[in-house]
Amino acid sequence: MNLDTIIFNGFTVEQLLPWLLAVVVLYAIFRVYKIFFTKKKVNLQHTSYFVCSSCGWEGHISKFGTRCPKCDAPAGDLSGGS
Ligand SMILES: [Zn+2]
Repeated sequence: MNLDTIIFNGFTVEQLLPWLLAVVVLYAIFRVYKIFFTKKKVNLQHTSYFVCSSCGWEGHISKFGTRCPKCDAPAGDLSGGS
């Protein structure tokens, strides 16, 4: 395609290209931010609020952790937290 091709109202590809690039770059930055944000969210989803019935410890532990971090008692049911 010729860079002098007029697209509309006398604008040429050459004039629009920097704006197009700016939009692409902004979109890329937005995507990166979104990925980081989504990762944080996913990490939070992998933790569960847990109150130990043996020692009373409470806090967020990994959904895959099955024991109390304080007294090492089995964590048991973690599905309650929402
Ligand atoms: Zn405990």
